[in-house]
Amino acid sequence: MISLIQHAPQYPNLGLGQEYELLDWLQHLTFPREAKFTDLEYAQKVYDQVVKRNLNAGVSISAHNVRTTSYSPAIFIRPQHVLTTPVSMYRVQRFLQMWFLNEAVITPRFALSCTSELMQELGQLMASEPDVHIQTHLSENRTEIQETLRSFPECTSYTEVYEKYGMLRNGTILAHCVWLTEDEMDIIKRTGAGISHCPTSNFNLMSGGARVGAMLDKGLNVGLGSDCSGGFALGVLPQLRNASMLSKMLAVQPEKPNGQTNGHVGQFTNKPLSIPTLFYLATMGGAALCKMAETVGNFLPGKEFDALHVTPGRSPNFFLDVGENRPVGQTRDERRKKLKETFERFLFVSDDRDIAHVYVRGRKVGGSKV
Ligand SMILES: [Zn+2]
Repeated sequence: MISLIQHAPQYPNLGLGQEYELLDWLQHLTFPREAKFTDLEYAQKVYDQVVKRNLNAGVSISAHNVRTTSYSPAIFIRPQHVLTTPVSMYRVQRFLQMWFLNEAVITPRFALSCTSELMQELGQLMASEPDVHIQTHLSENRTEIQETLRSFPECTSYTEVYEKYGMLRNGTILAHCVWLTEDEMDIIKRTGAGISHCPTSNFNLMSGGARVGAMLDKGLNVGLGSDCSGGFALGVLPQLRNASMLSKMLAVQPEKPNGQTNGHVGQFTNKPLSIPTLFYLATMGGAALCKMAETVGNFLPGKEFDALHVTPGRSPNFFLDVGENRPVGQTRDERRKKLKETFERFLFVSDDRDIAHVYVRGRKVGGSKV
């Protein structure tokens, strides 16, 4: 499973800051914590835990926002792609030796933390590096949006800011996108950028509910991200569950952000996300945003073997019926039905105790039995 955004330096803050929305949360919790990462020994210890815990939770690819300044290089970690930070390049290189796949990502934290000069430089850097990924935040919190438009008054929308500086293209990961207008979704669609839906973080920081159904109906690329520690649960399964909860909530109580009528009738808008759709977001959706749809995300012949070996029933909520794990005498259809039920339970009630082994490129790299 693929998690499109998390912040490795924020993991010690997981679960803290319940009283804050985004900008106060950054000020009171995030910035002080990230400042500690000038201590490279501390950084090494935290990052080591971050990688191990994400792997054990079944995350085969994760894109981390690692550093602390306005220009925060990120890493893809597979397992997990990792980041580069100018401050700790030496340590990062040593860290990377522990793992075997990584890729640098250009990561301005968000437009508010960048001057127009810096945005311009990042745009130029991107133009000279056509294959590099970009990861940033977009339209997360209403105050953030107001402040962004005040900082970039020449733009009529937050999305336009990134578009203006050439930061939107195939391979751009835009986290949150809670308050996008239809026009902003159209810009994202036109440029080929994609969206990391972060429902746990969006709930936790009271940012709002992203209209994932409308995004899917527009044909946008969408995957999932934990955005730890904005979200308090690492891994992809908690995001899948909260994406489901949000879609059900929007189905009975549709949001109308920015005064729009979202009465659009499509396959997904204002409807509960189905299990296949949720699983797609957790796997192929993320792979598409990482430009790895041809390589990972499912088990089609020729793809690399990124997989979880699940042993049901170890965590307390993953409850199997009496005799269910010994399918003696069942017909093929009965076995298929049971398998489908077990898969649904795994998605909604399991935890990392049920993930025995995690494979990346065919190599066993994590899991509760490793
Ligand atoms: Zn974030």
